[in-house]
Amino acid sequence: MPIRQLASDVAAKIAAGEVVERPASVVKELIENSIDAGATQIRVDLMNGGLQLIRVTDNGSGIAADELPLALSRHATSKVEQIDDLEHIRSLGFRGEALASIAAVAEVTLLSRPRTAEQGAQISASSGKLSDITPAASPQGTTLTVRNLFSAVPARLKFLKSRNTEVGHCHHLLEQYALAYPEIRFTVFSEGRQIFGTPGDGQLSSVLVEVYGLPVAEQMAPLVSEGQDDDPERPRVSGYTSLPTCYKSTRQHISFFVNRRWVLSRMLTAAVEGAYHSLLLSGRHPIAVINIQVDPALLDVNVHPAKTEIRFLKERRVFAAILRAVRAALLEEPEMPQWSSQK
Ligand code: ADP
Ligand code: MG
Repeated sequence: MPIRQLASDVAAKIAAGEVVERPASVVKELIENSIDAGATQIRVDLMNGGLQLIRVTDNGSGIAADELPLALSRHATSKVEQIDDLEHIRSLGFRGEALASIAAVAEVTLLSRPRTAEQGAQISASSGKLSDITPAASPQGTTLTVRNLFSAVPARLKFLKSRNTEVGHCHHLLEQYALAYPEIRFTVFSEGRQIFGTPGDGQLSSVLVEVYGLPVAEQMAPLVSEGQDDDPERPRVSGYTSLPTCYKSTRQHISFFVNRRWVLSRMLTAAVEGAYHSLLLSGRHPIAVINIQVDPALLDVNVHPAKTEIRFLKERRVFAAILRAVRAALLEEPEMPQWSSQK
């Protein structure tokens, strides 16, 4: 075949494949945007596992009416201006392509009202084509609705599992973000029924109760942080880890947040499991929620479009800090926090 330039809609669908793998990837991008917008309340609605509908409603900063088309355009972001900004990213998003990618593989409606605006406005996109901006009633914040995900990409639809599996992926993801942001009140509905919620009271312990239940939460020990010093390169570790009496059969319940970004990492998982050494029989894995704060300059988050992989410049220090904090939590008999059931 001769070399040809791809039609722009074909190119857009291929690029979207990197970001939008399944409904949970859409939910991830939307709630990251809500968090970046400073929301304190985030509601997620799913219909048919997210394939029919995903709607994320937040009370964040909102988007000015005349910027609505930009929000859905590729490489348009309010978060990064210069290449140097990539060295110290504080926001979860920065690539400016999530909404454009989602709009390439679904029908998207964006409704928003910034606090200072008297009226809201709305725009839609279907097969990547934008509608006009129309005035619309809206509370302060943003509602993003994604309908008929992948209906124009049958190859992708084929690979998706049952509705319950997709709801499960979304549920797990939302639990992770709730653990990372205890100050945000999350509510999640599937087919109109609430499946998850957090109080948004700022306490990680409250979220642990919602995610794992009171009996498990009661067996989680707070990580013991090391004494204060001024070394800016020292990773700071906080969170909770399960006592050896409490365990799971998979590693899926060890969660890491680096500068409040949910990440997956074998290296970090190995550090936690290393701390349990002989305390857990093989095949048994701890439950842990580990927050790591590092100087953003010592971090590369731009490894993969989904941004769940990161690279540390000083990997050994992070490994050692986690190992020590978890070990200290298991050895100490700290005063247990006051647990309270939210239900
Ligand atoms: P990125 O998050 O990488 O900037 P996105 O495509 O996810 O790219 O979003 C594009 C832009 O749209 C953001 O930079 C932001 O200005 C705006 N935006 C998206 N979602 C929201 C939201 N929920 N609240 C306020 N602004 C939003
Ligand atoms: Mg984004």
